[in-house]
Amino acid sequence: MGYLVPGLDVPVTKTTGGLIVLPEDHFIVRRKSWDWNKTLRVGHSACDQCSRCTELCPRYMLGHPIEPHRAMRSLGFNTNREADVAGTQFCSECNLCSYYSCPEDLDPCGVTHQNKMRLMAEKKRWSDPLFAPSRADILTTYRKTPTQRLMQRTGLDGFVNHGPLLKKQYQPNEVKIPLRQHIGAPCVPVVNLGDSVVRGQAIATRPVTDGKAALGADVHASINGTVTEVAAEYIKIAATKN
Ligand code: SF4
Ligand code: SF4
Repeated sequence: MGYLVPGLDVPVTKTTGGLIVLPEDHFIVRRKSWDWNKTLRVGHSACDQCSRCTELCPRYMLGHPIEPHRAMRSLGFNTNREADVAGTQFCSECNLCSYYSCPEDLDPCGVTHQNKMRLMAEKKRWSDPLFAPSRADILTTYRKTPTQRLMQRTGLDGFVNHGPLLKKQYQPNEVKIPLRQHIGAPCVPVVNLGDSVVRGQAIATRPVTDGKAALGADVHASINGTVTEVAAEYIKIAATKN
């Protein structure tokens, strides 16, 4: 899961779960660098509909109506397209199908993601999805993916760290805090250039319309310092020198 970031200048936000640093030529980095045209071109020509991506899909095994091989079919045939991709709404984007299951090294996760985003943008929902809860009892005992094999396949078995983790407080000289880190509306700055702020202080709040605050969450300063930039998407704070 997760996405590729180009460098350490990308801000850590409240939805950041963790960072994994890999060499540029690593399998995961190369696969995550594929653009949609490559996914489309290769998937269109090479998917043999073996359905292995569906057979090992954790969400499918739990009984959700997600069948990535059908989403792949939609690349080549338009006649049944919406029916083939409706289940992509249930994809968790774990990438198991793309990085492990597919014997042709195709990108069914990329295809389900693309369709999921399109269905969301078009506000289309599957009103009566067909769940099969009994599928979990039948399939999960014998079809779980072995962790060791998964690590070998994705090239992560070479990075062995027996710990312990090092606890270290990082002191940045400057922070860049995005105004949109959550579902809902982006926050509106309530500080100005040159203002002094303290850690924990609200620096941007939810927009209010007709006395009602929009869906979202306020944004707070993560360090003591001075506001050095207030932009449409972020606020920058320079740390106070001790
Ligand atoms: S596993 Fe690969 S080749 Fe098989 S159906 Fe899925 S995408 Fe196609
Ligand atoms: S990325 Fe989606 S379709 Fe692929 S295995 Fe994970 S849940 Fe299933």
